[in-house]
This record gives sequence, C-alpha cells and structure tokens, in this order.
Amino acid sequence: MSNWMKNLRRVEPYVPGEQPRSLEVVKLNTNENPYPPAPGVAEALHQMNTDTLRRYPAPDCGMLTAVLARRYGVAQNQVFVGVGSDDVLGMSFLTFFNSEKPILFPDISYAFYEVWADLLRIPYEKQPLDASLRLVREDYYKENGGIVFPNPNAPTSILEPLSFVEDIVSHNPDSVVIVDEAYIDFGGTSALPLIEKYDNLLVVQTFSKSRSLAGMRIGFALGSPALIQALNSVKNSYNSYTMSQAALETGTAALEDEAYFQETIGKITQTRQEAVQRLAALGFSGPAPMANFLFVTHESIPARELFAALREADIFVRYFDKPRIDNYLRITVGTPEQMEKLYTFLEDYMKH
Ligand SMILES: *Cc1c(COP(=O)(O)O)cnc(C)c1O
Repeated sequence: MSNWMKNLRRVEPYVPGEQPRSLEVVKLNTNENPYPPAPGVAEALHQMNTDTLRRYPAPDCGMLTAVLARRYGVAQNQVFVGVGSDDVLGMSFLTFFNSEKPILFPDISYAFYEVWADLLRIPYEKQPLDASLRLVREDYYKENGGIVFPNPNAPTSILEPLSFVEDIVSHNPDSVVIVDEAYIDFGGTSALPLIEKYDNLLVVQTFSKSRSLAGMRIGFALGSPALIQALNSVKNSYNSYTMSQAALETGTAALEDEAYFQETIGKITQTRQEAVQRLAALGFSGPAPMANFLFVTHESIPARELFAALREADIFVRYFDKPRIDNYLRITVGTPEQMEKLYTFLEDYMKH
C-alpha cells in the first residue's frame, strides 16, 4: 500500500435515494416537493443580471437573512444560512460538538448524523426508539456533548409535541440541542419560539422540501445571537462564500410568496390524508404521518419485495435494509396523479 493511502480520511458516505434521469418515473423516494417553486423564483432567475456574477456574493448573505428574519420574527443576527440544511447541520456539528462526551441522537433517524460524527471524529451514542418508534425523552437526560434529532423524525414521519422538545432542551443547559425541522412545515409546531428562552437551542430548516427548492440548496438555522455568531466564525474559517447569488435571489423570492407556500402545503397535506386511507384499504399501516412522506408496512407482503416490484414499474420509493425498519417503505407524498399510479399498481399487485 502506498504511504499516502495510510493518511486518507476513511469515511462511509451517506447514501441518498436514487436520482433517475428520466422525469417520467413516479419519483416518491427522496421527499422532494412534487410542485414547482413559487412563480417568483423563475422570475428572479430570468431577471438576474449576469454581470453581477463577476463578483463574489455577499459573504453575510444579508439579502436572504433579512427576509428570513422578517418571516420568522427574529433579529437578523439570529439567522444563519447554508448550502441546504445538510451544510448547516454539518457546520453545526463542527461548531458545537467538540466535547469528549458523546453526542446523542436516535438510532433510527437521519443517517447523515452518524456520517458527520464519524467524519469529524465526534464520539456518539445512538438512543433506541421505543417499540412504537417514538423517541424516549429520558434517554436524552444523561451526560452528553450535544444532542440532535429531527422533528418530525425521518424516516418515521412521527412528530413530537413542543413540550417534548422543551423538556429535552431544559434538561440540557450545558449542551447545544439541534432540532432538525426539515419537515416541520407539513403540519408541525416549530420549536422556534423557544430560542428566546433557551440560548442553547438551534432550530434548523430547509427550502428543499416545503419550498420546492432542493436543486438550489438553501438551508437555515435560527438561534441565539451567540450560537449564530459561533456558526459564522466557523463558516468563515472554512468557506466564506457558501451561497451563490442565484441561491440568495431565488431563496428570497420563494420566501416572499407566502400564499403560494400555504397553497402547496395544503395540497400536500390533503394528498397525505387521502394516502393514509387508500393505503390502509390495501393492507398497509404505519405511524400517523406528519411530514411529506408516509412510513408504512404491509400486513402480508414483505417491504423488500414491494420495493423491487414498484421499482420495476418505474415507481420509486425508499427502502432501508436496517434492523427494525426493514419491513417498511418510506413513500413521499406526490401529486394526486402520481399517488393514483401508486395505488393502481398496488391494487393490481395484491390481486396476484
Ligand atoms: C432532507 C433532509 C435534510 C437536508 O436537506 P437539504 O436538502 O440539505 O436542506 C436534513 N434533515 C433531514 C431529516 C432531511 O430529511
């Protein structure tokens, strides 16, 4: 083995859902929004003055943080933005999780947490979900170097109430607690109001799901000025210009169209409600979904088999070959037309 190979940082990367090239497939595997971004986004792109691209974008991303601050009713120095919430979360691990004590997160959760912890050599202890796939609050009372969990959780789609989040934050005044709210807009109550009371709480959200901008890569964190300042110091020690001019302008445009945002959320939650009933009629069950996806298991057909059959029919859903959840499918809520194709295929499949 060459000597340089001994110095490699060996990592086991996060594996995202498949991205087939064809736009024809029914793509219900990566929790993207099935509706286009707000009309103002196309307009912002068309009107963009390409001469501005000669210059570096504003390193403080002030244009976007100002609109976010207004939308969420916080001060501008309580807002941090990044290249999708993955960038915001990765930067947060780097900034806040520097203890010898292990950080805590659920065993069944967003798989990237473990990847970042390994990459950054942060000790961690996964906390098992209970038999009904819920987080156990007492597991997060023990000594730790930080806490992170999604709410609603992924891939279960289960939402914990605000009181649950506050309980964990209030038990951990000496750690930073990160609540990953990638799916909070689909009917959950954000922990955002708690940031005024707890200076150790960081709320992370994204434009990828509820605002239909996964391709533009925009995420943000809201927290106390002290947390945000720490994040900015680390970001500016690594890469000052994370957000492109296009991301700043389209992100701003998306945020300014509240009516379109509410309309899209309304359509998705309506389709989700229908999906619960249609899938139940086909023999599926699962936790009450509070994100833009369902986590379901079938009474007789193994999930692995269904996943393969669906894929063969160009209907992509997500399957995790992991203990305790290897008989579940995670199905993104698509348009009513896409969902109809799913139901039709399944009805047909159940007949054989
Ligand atoms: C999708 C997702 C993210 C990251 O999304 P970005 O596209 O990077 O903003 C973060 N956390 C969870 C739980 C997610 O499902």
